[in-house]
Amino acid sequence: MTGILMSCGAEKVTTPRMEDFRYSVDKFADIEILRYRVPDFEKLSLKQKELVYYLNQAALEGRDILYDQNNKHNLCVRRTLEAVYLNYKGDRKSTDFNHLTTYLKRVWMGNGIHHHYSEDKFIPEFSSAYFAKVVKSIASTKLPLSKGESVDMLLTKLTPILFDPKVYPKRTNQAEGVDLIKTSANNYYEGVTQQEVEAFYGKMKDPNDSTPVSYGLNSKLVKEKGILVEKTYKVGGLYSTAISRIVGWLEKAAKVTENDKQLDVISSLIEFYRTGDLKKYDEYSINWVEDLNSQVDFVNGFTETYGDPLGMKASWESIVNFKNIEATKRTEIISANAQWFEDNSPVDTRFKKETVKGVSAKVITAAILAGDCYPATPIGVNLPNSNWIRHEHGSKSVTIENITEAYDQASLGNGFTEEFMWSDVERKRAKDFASLTNNLHTDLHECLGHGSGKLLPGIDPDALKAYGSTIEEARADLFGLYYMGDPKMTELGLLPDKEAYKAEYYSFIMNGLMTQLTRIQPDKNIEEAHMRNRQLIASWVFEKGKADKVIEMVKRDSKTYVVINDYKKLRTLFGELLAEIQRIKSTGDFEGGKTLVEKYGVKVNQTLHAEVLERYKKLHLAPYRGFVNPVYTLVKNEKGEIIDVSISYTEGYVDQHLRYSKDYSTLPTYN
Ligand code: ZN
Repeated sequence: MTGILMSCGAEKVTTPRMEDFRYSVDKFADIEILRYRVPDFEKLSLKQKELVYYLNQAALEGRDILYDQNNKHNLCVRRTLEAVYLNYKGDRKSTDFNHLTTYLKRVWMGNGIHHHYSEDKFIPEFSSAYFAKVVKSIASTKLPLSKGESVDMLLTKLTPILFDPKVYPKRTNQAEGVDLIKTSANNYYEGVTQQEVEAFYGKMKDPNDSTPVSYGLNSKLVKEKGILVEKTYKVGGLYSTAISRIVGWLEKAAKVTENDKQLDVISSLIEFYRTGDLKKYDEYSINWVEDLNSQVDFVNGFTETYGDPLGMKASWESIVNFKNIEATKRTEIISANAQWFEDNSPVDTRFKKETVKGVSAKVITAAILAGDCYPATPIGVNLPNSNWIRHEHGSKSVTIENITEAYDQASLGNGFTEEFMWSDVERKRAKDFASLTNNLHTDLHECLGHGSGKLLPGIDPDALKAYGSTIEEARADLFGLYYMGDPKMTELGLLPDKEAYKAEYYSFIMNGLMTQLTRIQPDKNIEEAHMRNRQLIASWVFEKGKADKVIEMVKRDSKTYVVINDYKKLRTLFGELLAEIQRIKSTGDFEGGKTLVEKYGVKVNQTLHAEVLERYKKLHLAPYRGFVNPVYTLVKNEKGEIIDVSISYTEGYVDQHLRYSKDYSTLPTYN
């Protein structure tokens, strides 16, 4: 059993020259860029390597789509800045030029003019006068001018977009009481109100349809001559040039598949990209979820809907990966016991699944990150998102272990636990178990959490609207937290020690009550669904356990610390909240969800926030991290036959983005 637990350590030994590998690549603003390793890529067969290569290419081709989805001016902003960066002949060592470089790096990180996480627009530290000067200094042929547009017109257009905080302030607005469509800067809708959107899609939904498509998923909704029309993302439709290139690489990939099921996956995805037909998308999703035997796997498409305040339109993303066979044994134990977990969960029997189906789980090694998974990336994926497909065909869950490894390695000894943890007891536990318990919590969240429970008959899966994502993430997190403290964990050999779960409980509560505030600007509330969910859980259990002093916020030398006095009681509270959240989800209780999220998940304690930011600042750490990808190259012999795919870890952040903009940028500046 320890063999399974130690699998990460074992991998590290097998990869040569590990000690030469530098995780940290670049630092700017509030961002640190890391590199990740792709252990065991060398061990794949030539055919598998080739498959990974083509899928990687398909992944990189979608980059511009996301920029345009995030805001209609993003490609224009990026191309203008890159033109200046590449061609400006003046003083490149000046403070202004440094500020411009930092701003460009932030645009790359955010896939546009908004912060990737807070979704607030960031403002350059150089002046609009400097911007005008450098733009005018380069040849106009280098600039992304629209037809008939002069350099002055370009500047007039871009200046407020870059410099005026009131223009496009928020990428995805979740604030209550305003038109969420009109106040969001993203590009999923144009010229329509929230009411019109809701009416438009409300009419499409048939309450008696038990297998509804994901309405609106792959289109932009616009008003043309007073009529609402969907502009579909497909070959021949919106984003056609990029999608055609994606399809081209997928066709090459289709020739080197590992088995017929994998070929079905790729063929149905190509079909979907060609037709834009959401029925085809469901076919693809079903093929994908049924493909359990391939070692190489990928996500490529319009997938997650976090970027749409109404949760319908999906941003483009891609991850190519292959199974980490050793570490997957851990999640196989979890899935093999899925029914036991469902039956024993603390939620009302009415909301449990009688049979938990198709919970597949694996640990993967990411080979490339792209679209909405790059430069910032999730550490776990659970797809598909369609409720009825999940119900009838199951879902596929993955933990991306080479990414968590990069995070963990880069964090060792950076002073964070010394500053924020209460005592050496918590620090020792973190050192001994946190990497393992963190991975295990992700596994439980992805493999069991999202797949657990059911909606009562007739309940609209979108009933929780803007609160849906937060509630769903809380549900999955709580499922994991509740079971981490269960004796079943040591029984199944998933944890080596009965105390180990405390490492995860402590870091979760400390993060939810305090340290995640390092990612929030002063005076701002929490917007992002995962962060809302973490604060919701932590502050709810804190409040409910107050009388028994389950958790205390203690001051020492005028610094605040989280102290957990009663881990057993804390587990009971996690169970109670899980039951309540499942009830909200199962019954579509919008008001209940709203109350919970607004009361516990959104508002920030300003005094504590200021203190945390102050303490954090002294550590000089970046609160957010992004990644650079490795570079893959086809190796050919004299006859031009492919004999290998090589991988290198030397490309820097700036070079990578400039290369991507050169080699994978086929969309018009305005779409
Ligand atoms: Zn999740």
